[in-house]
Amino acid sequence: MATPQDNLLDWLRDAHAMEQQAEKMLEAQAERLQHYPQLRARIAQHIEETRGQQQLLASCLERLGSSPSTIKDLSAKLVAFGQGMAGMTVSDEVVKGAMAGYVFEHMEIASYTILIAAAKAVGDLQTQRACEQILPQEVAMAEWLQQHLPEITEAFLARSAAPDTQAKR
Ligand code: MG
Ligand code: FE
Repeated sequence: MATPQDNLLDWLRDAHAMEQQAEKMLEAQAERLQHYPQLRARIAQHIEETRGQQQLLASCLERLGSSPSTIKDLSAKLVAFGQGMAGMTVSDEVVKGAMAGYVFEHMEIASYTILIAAAKAVGDLQTQRACEQILPQEVAMAEWLQQHLPEITEAFLARSAAPDTQAKR
């Protein structure tokens, strides 16, 4: 058996590892994007938000007497590295990247929705507040991507159809 407190702690560690993966993934995308400045700027903003989220989660973990799990953090970095590499091989990298970002943001939205419910169940107000601070940043990023996917697609298609023009990133 596991207490609600144990589960909350596990999920906080998972969220911290998820945010490390998010940072690596977003950094890889931002570094490679050349012809999509709006997307690149929005990703840069979310990298800053993501680092703040990591700090909020780390302070929750410390307060609860734990620390970010080293093993999970390491595996998350490897996964993100693999994803960064995989992106280089596709000819529609910007489109696949934006799509992957949209999916990832929704995983984050689900994670913080779960964490808020668990923190409420345990009566951990500080963790609840931290997650309530993070959740709107994930929602905003997901909404931005959804709103901009059409114009990213249109820009990619136009560049792709033009001679001597790099489209993929
Ligand atoms: Mg995040
Ligand atoms: Fe996010």
